Amino acid sequence: MGRSFRYVIIGGGVAAGYAALEFTKKGVSHGELCIISDEPVAPYERPALSKGFLLPEAPARLPGFHTCVGANEERLTPNWYKEHGIELILGTRVESIDVRRKTLLTTTGETISYKFLIIATGSRAVKLEEIGIKGSDAENVCYLHDLADATNLVNIMQKCSGGNAIVVGGGYIGMECAASLVANKINVSIVFPGPHCMERLFTPKIASYYEDFYKSKGVNFVKGTSLSSFEFNSEGMVTGANLRDGRQLPADMIVVGIGARPNTDLFTGQLTFENRGIKVNNHLQSSNPSVYAVGDVASFPVEFSGDTRRVEHVDAARRTARHAVSAIMDPNNTLEFDYLPFFYSRVFSLSWRFYGDNVGEVVHFGDFSGSKFGAYWKNNGSLVGCFLEGGSDDDYVKIAKAVRDKAMVVDLGELLRVDQKPPLSP
Ligand code: FAD
Ligand code: NDP
Repeated sequence: MGRSFRYVIIGGGVAAGYAALEFTKKGVSHGELCIISDEPVAPYERPALSKGFLLPEAPARLPGFHTCVGANEERLTPNWYKEHGIELILGTRVESIDVRRKTLLTTTGETISYKFLIIATGSRAVKLEEIGIKGSDAENVCYLHDLADATNLVNIMQKCSGGNAIVVGGGYIGMECAASLVANKINVSIVFPGPHCMERLFTPKIASYYEDFYKSKGVNFVKGTSLSSFEFNSEGMVTGANLRDGRQLPADMIVVGIGARPNTDLFTGQLTFENRGIKVNNHLQSSNPSVYAVGDVASFPVEFSGDTRRVEHVDAARRTARHAVSAIMDPNNTLEFDYLPFFYSRVFSLSWRFYGDNVGEVVHFGDFSGSKFGAYWKNNGSLVGCFLEGGSDDDYVKIAKAVRDKAMVVDLGELLRVDQKPPLSP
């Protein structure tokens, strides 16, 4: 015999935290909602782990960044869950699930049944072994996905002050960690196979601005090649890396950021999949009507681009979570999920945002030798995406609206003054 809840959320990350808050807003009763997480702490804002958490001075620490502070909402401490009668089962993994019978089994041997299930299991970091390189077990090889990883990374950084780090991967983790390593007085080489950093989003011109900025902070970019193996000392610590182009780099520590994979194995063969994620409709409902998927695992229809997407970013996690709860608890007043892709990052003193899609013709604007510049993408005469570094809150509201409206680009020169007056007519 096990316990039974009306609503169960598997996973206790960003989406779970925002879902919990939405459940209370929609009037969930005490004892109706249960969240099961294999992390030992209540849901927190994961983006803090690669930013404030890694700062050498006044670093962010829990309980400071529990959800939902990232969206300027209430901070849900463990006590908050108690006060709201939400059962928070921490440090416990869901081992198996039977969506037909609406039951799941945890690693503690408990069986839990539900009426509605929300899958919020997020993703995991891709391991070096998956790209044919041994060494993940070495003490000074770091990944960054959860609080335990971030705590380990901080400890290793403290031991390596003044030493050398190799960052593997030039994506989000690579770029954000490289900046944090510099702040911790560690010499950084960043290695990735592409021609420039953030290849899937940045244009060569945008990438060149950030790479030059990093170089001015002492970062060494090793592009167009990748890791082939590590050198180890007698204690099993990595001391250097061999690259495919024959070069060797010394290392006191390694940080790996070579992508993520959604945690969906529990549902293989039970739900419909797309883009490696759980396929949901525009109410975040999966192929089983009692099961919803949100955050990194959800592959949802995006009307803006006319396709189905899985988005590994926090804004999507927050919005899909709120929407799924609304669809479950208040279906008659819940419209179809309407999502505008939005990504951002903050490194050093820099801060950028991107809205929409980077397809079609790209036009750069602004002062690339200054602090405010960007690029927009137009497709068939309409604005479909915009990147802006150094904008004000007001600028970002304007570009988000222009992109959402797919505004017609009437005068490209006008767009350069995006912060002064609306350059586009809807
Ligand atoms: P997660 O927040 O990953 O939560 C999933 C939870 O489920 C975890 O607690 C996990 O342990 C748990 N879980 C998984 N399987 C099981 C199981 N079987 N049983 C029990 N529990 C389970 N995005 C941005 O837009 N901006 C950023 O600046 C940014 N920074 C980031 C920094 C880092 C270091 C990382 C790793 C990601 C960052 N992201 C950022 C991405 C963003 O954090 C994710 O898209 C978001 O956290 C996804 O939310 P989620 O709830 O789907 O998954
Ligand atoms: P990304 O997908 O952003 O980047 C992976 C990087 O690894 C790419 O530069 C990729 O190059 C590179 N790569 C792939 N294979 C190799 C290889 N063999 N050797 C070296 N580099 C390689 O993933 P991350 O790991 O950076 O981030 C993990 C997750 O965390 C993602 O879901 C991301 O969205 C999230 N995150 C988001 C942040 C944000 O939104 N600000 C901040 C931090 C994390 P290529 O592109 O050429 O394949």
